[in-house]
Amino acid sequence: MRINALPSGNGFSFEISHAPEKSLARAGTISTPHGEIATPAFIPVGTKATVKAVLPETMKELGAQALLSNAYHLYLQPGPDVLDEAGGLARFMNWPGPTFTDSGGFQVLSLGVGFKKVLAMDAQTFRSDEVVAGNKERLAHVDDEGVTFKSHIDGSMHRFTPEVSMQVQHKIGADIIFAFDECTTLHNTRRYQEKALERTRLWGIRCLDEHQKLTVERSQKPYQALYGVIQGAQYEDLRKKAATDMAALRSSDPDSPIGFDGFGLGGALDKKTLGTILTWMNEILPAEKPRHLLGIGAPEDLFVGVENGIDTFDCVLASRIARTSAVYTMEGRFNLSNAANRRAFEPIDSQCDCYTCTHYTKAYLHHVFRGKEIIAATLATIHNERFIVRLVDQMRAALISGDYFEFKAEFMGRYKHLSGQARD
Ligand SMILES: [Zn+2]
Repeated sequence: MRINALPSGNGFSFEISHAPEKSLARAGTISTPHGEIATPAFIPVGTKATVKAVLPETMKELGAQALLSNAYHLYLQPGPDVLDEAGGLARFMNWPGPTFTDSGGFQVLSLGVGFKKVLAMDAQTFRSDEVVAGNKERLAHVDDEGVTFKSHIDGSMHRFTPEVSMQVQHKIGADIIFAFDECTTLHNTRRYQEKALERTRLWGIRCLDEHQKLTVERSQKPYQALYGVIQGAQYEDLRKKAATDMAALRSSDPDSPIGFDGFGLGGALDKKTLGTILTWMNEILPAEKPRHLLGIGAPEDLFVGVENGIDTFDCVLASRIARTSAVYTMEGRFNLSNAANRRAFEPIDSQCDCYTCTHYTKAYLHHVFRGKEIIAATLATIHNERFIVRLVDQMRAALISGDYFEFKAEFMGRYKHLSGQARD
């Protein structure tokens, strides 16, 4: 069944194969110059061109279809010129598949307020545009032209503009890149959210213009798809305006104006209203273009994303918590370091097919975590990444076979029931 397809002349296309009625959910395939991604799909994060502690071959074996790296980190080190000379991100890090890069907007702006991306449990009643996380120096300042920021590595000053972000991401050479946006927090005032939204819209045009220019100048390089980013925090009218604006946005070239190839749904999101907010945007965004939910990856949130029309996800959570000994199972999350695992001669999850679960016991993992052995991070990351990648693959299979909601009910019933909590 072929419902929608974008022209594939440039090596990038998206085809929806299954779209259940009365739902925004869909299963499809994104084609890129470096390969295909069967969607919905979870895209593991290799921030600095490496998924920490795990070989690229292992990521491939555990089912990762693509990896996402970060333009801000790669800009600071090793620098975009090095990646360009190396033949692009995928070749540089020996990854045999598609890649994404985040625009750097979120990272430079989070330097401004010192916040990590988290799904707030509830929208704060406190609103201020000057809020900075406790004891953090403000490292970034935003104006209408761009963002000036201080490197977290050596304190040197840098400036990102929409044009610079495009130049950096073109040199890095990922298949899917994101427009430079202003990412606000739930703490900002409504007035500020409006201002940031308009700034992001204007930056979107500048990104399209620079992207179009670079695509022509670098026509010998594989095509890179540009996704526009939808912001608007928790406000229905702003989210809808942003989706409408970004869907209609075109470059200023009068002869051949281009639009975005897909969309990134970003910004501050309230966990309780995540599904509602995604619906506001996805009912407006053109169905035939792929949608990526930026930085969200807890199991329960992945279900909310898939059933509300998300095609791809990325999140550092699976690997970050693995390095602290926290692992996902069908029954919920637990810590391998806990004393209860000292003599647990069984796998982390008896239903998991990952390398770690088929070769090692919780007792061994407990031992290497307690001993601070490097292999602990490797084995726990393999399990968690496999768990999340497989979970979204299972959602895809359930969408195709028509029993998505049965699959979800069964998973969430067990996941919450035995763990007592399913939140991160
Ligand atoms: Zn496993």
